Amino acid sequence: MTADLPFKLPQFIAGHVWLVGAGPGDPGLLTLHCVNALKQADHILYDALVDHSCLKLAKQGAVLEFAGKRGGKPSLKQQEITERMICLAREGKRVLRLKGGDPFVFGRGGEEALALIEAHIPFRVFPGITAGIAGPAYAGIPVTHRSVNHSVLFLTGHDADGTVPKSFDWKAISRAAPVLVFYMAMKHIDEIADDLMKGGRKNDEPVMFITHATTSNQRIYKTELGRIKQAIKEHDIEPPTIVVVGKVVSLSDKLAPNIVTDELDNRSL
Ligand code: SAH
Repeated sequence: MTADLPFKLPQFIAGHVWLVGAGPGDPGLLTLHCVNALKQADHILYDALVDHSCLKLAKQGAVLEFAGKRGGKPSLKQQEITERMICLAREGKRVLRLKGGDPFVFGRGGEEALALIEAHIPFRVFPGITAGIAGPAYAGIPVTHRSVNHSVLFLTGHDADGTVPKSFDWKAISRAAPVLVFYMAMKHIDEIADDLMKGGRKNDEPVMFITHATTSNQRIYKTELGRIKQAIKEHDIEPPTIVVVGKVVSLSDKLAPNIVTDELDNRSL
C-alpha cells in the first residue's frame, strides 16, 4: 500500500529504533508512517493498548513481542523494555516500538527516547492519534468548540506510584480550562470527581466516559460530575476509558446521532 504513494516514506535502517504511535484502535486511524514502519520492522515491541488488527500489517517473519503493562499480570518493567529495545538494536534489528495512541502523550515515549540517546542508538519518533482527541471525536465531542472553550487540559488520573498525582492543584485545574480530558482516570474516578467539585467545578457539569474508543467495542456513557459514583455502579465502566468533563460533552447529543457510520467503521483487518 505505501508503495503506491506519490511520495516517499522513510527507509527503516537496520540497528535503528522507531518509536511509533498506533492510534487509539480503529486501523483506519493508523498513520502512513506507522504502516510504513510495520512493513519494514524486524522486531515489533508492542504495548497493551495497541489494537491487534494493525499487527497483521507486519512483514512476514517479523517478531511480534508483547511489551506492555497489564494490571495484575506479569509484564516487563519499563527498564526491561528499554534494555530489550537497546539489545535488539545492537543486534542490528529494525526495532519498532509500537505504542497505543501517541508515544509522547502519557506513553513514556520520552523516557524511552532518552534511554536510546544514552545508549547511542539512533531513533525516530512518529506521532499517532491520541485517544484523548480521537475518542471524544468518535463520541461526537469536539475537544474545542468556539462558543464553549478556548483551551483544553489533558491530565492523567494516575501517578507513577498508582495514586492520583500529588502535584495536582485541584483549584487551579478547575479554573484552568473549561474542558478537561482525563487518561487513566478510572481507578480513582470518585476521588477525582470529588476533588474537581471541591476545586469549584459544578455538580451538574456534563461528563462523558468513552470506553474502548474507536474500536468495535466502543461504549459511551454520559453523566454529570455529581453523579459519577452512581454511573460507575450502574454501568460497570472499565478501562481503557477517556473521561471528558465540560460543556462540550453536551454537543454529543446532537453530533453523535448524526455522524454517519457504515460497515467499514470499526472494521478489523
Ligand atoms: N499514549 C496513549 C495514552 C496511554 S495512557 C494515547 O496517546 O492515547 C493509557 C490511557 O489512555 C488509558 O488508561 C485510557 O485512559 C486511554 N486510552 C488509550 N486508548 C484508549 C481507547 N482506545 N479508548 C479509551 N481510552 C483509551
